[in-house]
Amino acid sequence: MRIGLYPGTFDPVTLGHADIIKRACGLVDRLVIGVAINRDKGPMFNLEERVEMLNEAIDEISDKTHCEIIVHPFENLLIDCATDVDATVIIRGLRAFSDFEYEYQMVGMNRALNADIETVFLMAEARYQAIASRLVKEIARLGGDISKFVPDKVVKRVARKLAKT
Ligand code: ADP
Repeated sequence: MRIGLYPGTFDPVTLGHADIIKRACGLVDRLVIGVAINRDKGPMFNLEERVEMLNEAIDEISDKTHCEIIVHPFENLLIDCATDVDATVIIRGLRAFSDFEYEYQMVGMNRALNADIETVFLMAEARYQAIASRLVKEIARLGGDISKFVPDKVVKRVARKLAKT
């Protein structure tokens, strides 16, 4: 059984993330979506909300795949989380050159910590490639339409969150 770990902040989950999840499901038998607590990033949504949004997004995907998808919050080192969930592969999405340098360093450091775990990079379908959670939040704060970038339920949650603040 091949287990993959797809880590991120998912603040909030976007159609870019969903596309990577679908692709990753073709490569592994079980995909663990690792939700980093990431307090430093000052997330818009707390951990529980991010997990809920991910569960809603994967409800649609899991009907169409044989892969088992699990959402797993984690606060420890990524490589330790991978060991905890028995993952042999870490899945990351690549958008642009801007992602590359950071990811390149992460692979080097993670390999030094545990050489048995490979990192695999996937690219989303062209129309989802430019999507970033950070920009989604910025567009929403400025009153823009985010429905092309995130699942419908997330559009509503972001609107509710902004109405409260
Ligand atoms: P992180 O804080 O780790 O960057 P994110 O939630 O922003 O967390 O992203 C999680 C993973 O998904 C990262 O590997 C990121 O590169 C990837 N990703 C995010 N958006 C996209 C996208 N539109 N296309 C491809 N990969 C993406």
